[in-house]
Amino acid sequence: MSTDLTELLDSNKQWAAATEAREPGFFSKLLNQQTPQYLWIGCADSRVPANDLVNLLPGELFVHRNVANVVVHSDLNCLSVMQFAVDALKVQHIIIVGHSGCGGVKAALLDQRVGVADNWIRHVQDVRNHHQEWLDSLREDQRWGALCELNVLEQARNACQTTVVQDAWARGQSVVVHGWVYGLHNGLLEDLQMTVGTHDDVVPAFHKALAAVKKRYA
Ligand SMILES: [Zn+2]
Repeated sequence: MSTDLTELLDSNKQWAAATEAREPGFFSKLLNQQTPQYLWIGCADSRVPANDLVNLLPGELFVHRNVANVVVHSDLNCLSVMQFAVDALKVQHIIIVGHSGCGGVKAALLDQRVGVADNWIRHVQDVRNHHQEWLDSLREDQRWGALCELNVLEQARNACQTTVVQDAWARGQSVVVHGWVYGLHNGLLEDLQMTVGTHDDVVPAFHKALAAVKKRYA
């Protein structure tokens, strides 16, 4: 096995030079501030690179990624990112982004054991169990995609219920939570219409988005 990552380091040099050539002073400007408007909470999957998919530059997107884009109320890592994004950076949008063909979701769906991540994926199994009856009513080949989308809605709802977002809304700060799913097959992001900007909107938005997902798979 090669221990040499020269290729990556060379690529980095070319990227930095091209970026600076396109916009002189790009990096020195970022030294002093970052003012992203968006927090992206997505899957760690290498096929879903956050900035690339929405064509945003460094400084424009705050990102947290984990296996199967899960938002858990006891996860200090995700909560810390959310709090910094909302309280310090004042992001206006939090986007929970799932994707089709998610391995974490598949493992949850089929009770596949993968290792330490089993304990993490347990959260997605909770989503599966919660919607088991509906998932069972679908064709077998629809269930994986459907659970990817259900997981986005549930994690977006979790994001809405965090103290970070609840406190922001309580003090009148504008933060909108969104649920999107990315298609590995076509490179397109789809808005699942789980768009929530106030405490009172959480439940109605969730049920509306859930009904839309169910309608699409009917
Ligand atoms: Zn994934």
